[in-house]
Amino acid sequence: MPIVDRILMGPGPCNPYPEATEALTRPMLGHLDPVFLDILDETCERLRAVWRTGNPVTLPLSGTGSAGMEAAFVNTVGPGDVVVIGVNGLFGERMCDVAGRCGATVVQVAARWGRPLDPEEVIAAHPHPKLIAAVHAETSTGVRNDIAAVGDGKGDALMLADCVTSLGGIPVAVDDWRVDIAYSGTQKCLGVAPGLAPFTINGQALERRQERPQSWYLDLGMISEYATAKGARKYHHTAPVAMITSLHAGLGAVMAEGLDAALQRHADCGLLLQDGLQKMGLELFAAEGYRLPELTTVVVPDGVDDIAVRSTLLERYGIEIGGGVGPYAGKVWRIGCMGHTARVANVTLLLAALAEILGR
Ligand SMILES: *Cc1c(COP(=O)(O)O)cnc(C)c1O
Repeated sequence: MPIVDRILMGPGPCNPYPEATEALTRPMLGHLDPVFLDILDETCERLRAVWRTGNPVTLPLSGTGSAGMEAAFVNTVGPGDVVVIGVNGLFGERMCDVAGRCGATVVQVAARWGRPLDPEEVIAAHPHPKLIAAVHAETSTGVRNDIAAVGDGKGDALMLADCVTSLGGIPVAVDDWRVDIAYSGTQKCLGVAPGLAPFTINGQALERRQERPQSWYLDLGMISEYATAKGARKYHHTAPVAMITSLHAGLGAVMAEGLDAALQRHADCGLLLQDGLQKMGLELFAAEGYRLPELTTVVVPDGVDDIAVRSTLLERYGIEIGGGVGPYAGKVWRIGCMGHTARVANVTLLLAALAEILGR
């Protein structure tokens, strides 16, 4: 089979930074090799910089973004704990599923898909929840939720933020926003292949964590004795050495560009794309003022065949975009501009390709 190269403009994975891809070809190192441990330590340090946190327990968890979601809940929530969850898309719904499996009493605060959560409503949903959780960047709808506002009014509750599609794409400030626990994924705006879940948790949340979480593999206490330990490292599971080395390199590319410059690049590409789509007469789905630059949702025009357009983009132009999910399957397109994909050249090509296919 020939090697196929795509422009990945779906909801993830994105095209990885070339530095991240190159790192995957390096000779294997042992997971306790001092050379690898230096790479791991520096990866955690770089993650602290992109999360904007001083949390010592900041690390890449083994597994995709969903492993981060599961680790967040399983380590902090047990039977009977009250958890308030903001739900305005698929990933908010998933959080409710995961929290429910931990035995939590889930209080849902819903907003219509395509609209942001009302932070006041989330804060007021329960007088003393153990945890409040919300998705920062809802990848199912292209909407940004105001995490800082929820963090500001969280009271004694722990604040958990899903930053899978926000980290590296739009500003995230864990410490300033009073977020206690957050997770992300490598394949969205961080510009690395899928496989790791960057994770951060502060001291207050660690103090209130489950002593013996229901998951052995995702037990943060045991994982941090390897990943963020000073001095002697305790084996828990074999670290995904190649993936961590790749993340290290991808974050290195972001640092070399400058985090602010990388965020600006995402912002510029998103604006250019959204402007171009509207000039073509297409309707954006996410509410104005809350649109993510890194993930744009577009209403599939009446009479247009969703699947035919997406296959033509893939086959004729090598561009992948995503379809809608849940109630919006077949009704919206989801166009990602994340990581290394977030380049003007890609936006220009997609707009021209879409214009040609749609005859606009
Ligand atoms: C992609 C995504 C996830 C899940 O990540 P996987 O890497 O697919 O496991 C969770 N939350 C949000 C907001 C996402 O976009």
